[in-house]
Amino acid sequence: MTENVSSGYQAPTKSSALSEEFRHNSLAPEILMNAIQIKGVSTIDFHITAKCSQACPYCWGPRRFRTPVDTHLSQRIIARIKSLGVRRIVFTGGDPLQRPDAPDLVRYAKEIGLETALSTTGDLVTIEILQELAPYLDLISLPLDGSTEEINARTKHPGHFSAVRRALDWLRLFPNIDVKICTPVTQHNLSDIPAIAQLVEDYSQTTPARVFYNVFQAFPRAMFSANWDNLIVDDDEFSSLKNQVGDKPNVKINFLSHDTLDKLYVMVFPDGSMTIPRGSEYLNFGPFLEIKDFDKALNTSQFDSNKHMHHSRGWSKESMRQILKLGQSATRKNLNLEYSIG
Ligand code: SF4
Repeated sequence: MTENVSSGYQAPTKSSALSEEFRHNSLAPEILMNAIQIKGVSTIDFHITAKCSQACPYCWGPRRFRTPVDTHLSQRIIARIKSLGVRRIVFTGGDPLQRPDAPDLVRYAKEIGLETALSTTGDLVTIEILQELAPYLDLISLPLDGSTEEINARTKHPGHFSAVRRALDWLRLFPNIDVKICTPVTQHNLSDIPAIAQLVEDYSQTTPARVFYNVFQAFPRAMFSANWDNLIVDDDEFSSLKNQVGDKPNVKINFLSHDTLDKLYVMVFPDGSMTIPRGSEYLNFGPFLEIKDFDKALNTSQFDSNKHMHHSRGWSKESMRQILKLGQSATRKNLNLEYSIG
């Protein structure tokens, strides 16, 4: 294992890139390493690109990774995620749809038995891409920063709101893809959260798909310098949202505070390295394909497995089918689904 635990983000260097031996080896070594398991991790976020059409002031995704791992290496990373015993992969970025091979990677992940999620800006969603993804994609995650174009455009580019609404319209045609709307809460949209929640509830009444709404407290972590004072909402402001939003009968709403979001994610960055964010730091553990001791990496980063597993529970559609089979209420409200991660 090439361990490269840093106390903060460091721009990727050649030494953190995957070794030539791995790059040219057609026999996937991750298959040979299948005895290694990663305990207490059910979801891994694969940031297949740092490229994005947006420039959100609160973005905590990867930056400055100009050459992401190619399709072949991406597939090997996905195969290793599966071989480690992880249940679900989230394709994210940047915007994963910036990569033309994104649908192929989703398909590959599904075909080897992973649950699949795609976290995209919505800007590049087309009906053709949804058609291509539909047989292989379990969930699509779309951001909405406001309930109107004007409010959304305070932190997204003008036109983004319409792009997401268009994507949501098309998604009605693909009811097997669960839909998750995400809102990072900042000072720009704090008072608008109840209206966004209502918009999500209204949408959920118009589609047979399961609909989830994740409300995040924007987290002061970024790979660029940010003016957090003008962005971040405090814990009291965030916790008061639950009452303001109230109950929505058809949508499961998850509120993710700073406390919840910290030490929650295991990520593979666009250069193929594993990163676990902690506080304002990005702890980098070197090439994901070369890590042999995951326990050590998780302990070093103080990754909170219990919290991670809690927020991954109830994700699978199978669990929903089981509940429905038992004849309990079919309303989404009564299903104890968290669906928080990814
Ligand atoms: S859409 Fe996501 S990845 Fe893109 S800039 Fe915004 S937060 Fe970052």
